[in-house]
Amino acid sequence: MGTSNTYRWGARTDPVDALWPLVPALLDDEVISSWLVRCALAQGCEPTTLTADVWPDYRVWCHDSDRKFSEQQLITLSQRSGISVDALVASTLMPLQQMMTGATCFPQGVAAWFLCLGTRNRRRCGGLQYCPHCFAQQTPHYLIQNRFAWHTACPIHQVGLLDHCEQCHAPLCPHLITPPKLDLGRCHRCGYELKLAAPGAVEEGALRFQIATDDLFDGGHRRYGRCRLALAEWLALAKWMLGVLRAARRANSACTQDFFNELGVSLEGLSRPTTGLAFEYLSPVERGKLLSDVWSMIEIGPRRLIAVAKREHVRPSLLIPRKAPLPDSLSELSLVLNECRYKQCTKNHIDKPRSPDSVLMRWQRLLRKFER
Ligand SMILES: [Zn+2]
Ligand SMILES: [Zn+2]
Repeated sequence: MGTSNTYRWGARTDPVDALWPLVPALLDDEVISSWLVRCALAQGCEPTTLTADVWPDYRVWCHDSDRKFSEQQLITLSQRSGISVDALVASTLMPLQQMMTGATCFPQGVAAWFLCLGTRNRRRCGGLQYCPHCFAQQTPHYLIQNRFAWHTACPIHQVGLLDHCEQCHAPLCPHLITPPKLDLGRCHRCGYELKLAAPGAVEEGALRFQIATDDLFDGGHRRYGRCRLALAEWLALAKWMLGVLRAARRANSACTQDFFNELGVSLEGLSRPTTGLAFEYLSPVERGKLLSDVWSMIEIGPRRLIAVAKREHVRPSLLIPRKAPLPDSLSELSLVLNECRYKQCTKNHIDKPRSPDSVLMRWQRLLRKFER
């Protein structure tokens, strides 16, 4: 893990004894898929042509190629490109997944905190983001942190990240860029110069959460009440808060309003994600708003959160997850809530028609599929 100001996840590596005639350096923090596309464009061929030469039996662009390659696949790539296997491994998401979960592989489908590409053949729904100012100031390339779901802003330029072409709204698909284009600076679909886009707004709390989370990858801890949270515990706490916020927005009721107001979260201002998909599928704007609220809830601290939950008689089903355990730092919460069980609402919802919001959410999901 780098401590220099120029990189955090992986250092720039230049090729040595490459077989390919023109190999661009793997840049500071560059993610492997970005570098592979730049390699292909440097040879004057399509990314699929280059990768079919390296791995004839592996359709790399039909998967999330940043997650993992086998050792043998990386050795083959290293021989052709002259970039060391260690540097190639460091440009994938695998070392980060290992630090966050201890696992040496990714699950099928959604992996917590990593943006989902929504891949279908070589088409994608999203899962990649960029800063227009960074694209303007240096060789356009995508960073490892551009795949993190907790990243919503560029810490250098203090602007919101974008996950689509401003002109044609296509998701970012650098692997579909073909020669004669020479770099990743333009939209694959309409050719718009991505550096010209107006960057998004920054949610201050979300940026603070982003910086705090990044810092934990250096092995440190963060204080929450009396607990000192390491990376995995911190992420578990934030994930629980995201679940509570989204559940509260779906079932917005008067009884939870005061609870969230006390935590610095306005349920009115909590926008409903347009698609209702998992957090890892959401746009930078939607994630930024949610993470800003997570930051407010964290700052309140566990003692106050538990006291307010008790005082406002928040129903246990809102705060105690069904599928996962409560974060250790809030284990007291289940005792407190069970003491003052909420009187269940007996209203029968079975025959109710779907709400307009719910129908709209399904419609947005359908549109998203057509964008691929
Ligand atoms: Zn930037
Ligand atoms: Zn476009």
